[in-house]
Amino acid sequence: MSCEVIREQLHTLPLNELEPIREHLDGCLDCQGLVRLLADAESAIDLDLADFESERAFAGAWSEAETEPSTVPSNWRFPMTGVFVAIAAAASLLLALQPGTDVGPAPAVVPDCGELQSYEAKAMAGSLEGDDFQCVSDVAYGTGDQRGDATRVLLAHHWTAGEMQAWQTEARRYLDEIDASDPDLAYKFALHLLKQGDDEGAIAYADLAIEAAAGWTDESLASKRVYGVRKIQASAAQKLWRADVEAGRPADESRARTLALALDWLESAADADKDGAKASELCLSAGGTSEECASRGAASRGSGR
Ligand SMILES: [Zn+2]
Repeated sequence: MSCEVIREQLHTLPLNELEPIREHLDGCLDCQGLVRLLADAESAIDLDLADFESERAFAGAWSEAETEPSTVPSNWRFPMTGVFVAIAAAASLLLALQPGTDVGPAPAVVPDCGELQSYEAKAMAGSLEGDDFQCVSDVAYGTGDQRGDATRVLLAHHWTAGEMQAWQTEARRYLDEIDASDPDLAYKFALHLLKQGDDEGAIAYADLAIEAAAGWTDESLASKRVYGVRKIQASAAQKLWRADVEAGRPADESRARTLALALDWLESAADADKDGAKASELCLSAGGTSEECASRGAASRGSGR
C-alpha cells in the first residue's frame, strides 16, 4: 500500500477498521510522522482541558473568588497508548470528508482545480499552498454544493499548519453558514473560544456541540466528548461569574448559570466514568447543596436517572 493510500485511509476508514494499515505504519516513518502530527492536535485539546481542570479557579470557593490563583501544573499525562489510538483520535477529530459518494449525479469536479479530493493529502499535511490553496478557497467561498467539503479541506490545512486564526475564521463560517451538525468541530471551536477569553462564545458553541452530539456514534467517544464539552461550559461560566464578582457587579445570575453547568458537568462525568470531584467542588462553590453536588460516580449508574 502506498503512502498516498494510507493518508487517504487515515481519514476515511471507520475507527474499528484501521487494522489493514497497521503494517504499513509500523514500517513507514513518513506516515508515522503524519499520524503524530495529527495526534498532537488531538492531544493539545486534551491538554488544554486538563489545564483548565487543574486551575485553582475550579477549586476556588465563593469566598476565594478575589484571591489571585497560583496555578500548579497538573501531573496530567497524555493517555495515548499507541499510534493506533492516535490514528483513531485524529481520524475522528480532524476531518471527515466523504470520499465523493454523496455528491449526487454530478461528478465531483471543480472547475480549473480538478477533483477536490486530490487536495486532501496536502491539506492533512498542512501543505496546501499557492494555486492549490487558491482553488480550494474559491470553491469554499463559492455557492456550489462543494463549498462545505472545500471548507473542510481548508480547515484541515489550517489546523495542521498551526494557522489558528485562519482556522477559527473558517470554523466559525462553516458552523454558522454551512453546517452546524458537526459536533467535533463545534467542540474544538468552543475550546478555542474559551482559550481566547470569549466565554459566552465558548458556551454557545459548546451548546451547538451538544445539539449535534448524535454525530458521535461511538458511545465511549461520545461520553468522553460530552464530558469535555460540559467542562468547557462550566469553566466558561465560572470565569464569567468570577468576573462579575471581581468587578462588583450583581453575580446572582452568573452564579446560577455556573451551578447549572456544573451540574451538567457532574452528570457527564458519571456518564464518562470520570472523576467528578472538580465538578462537585465547583457545584458546591456556586451554591449547590451537598446532596445535589455529590459526585455521582459508579453508585449513581443503574439508578435509572
Ligand atoms: Zn507511508
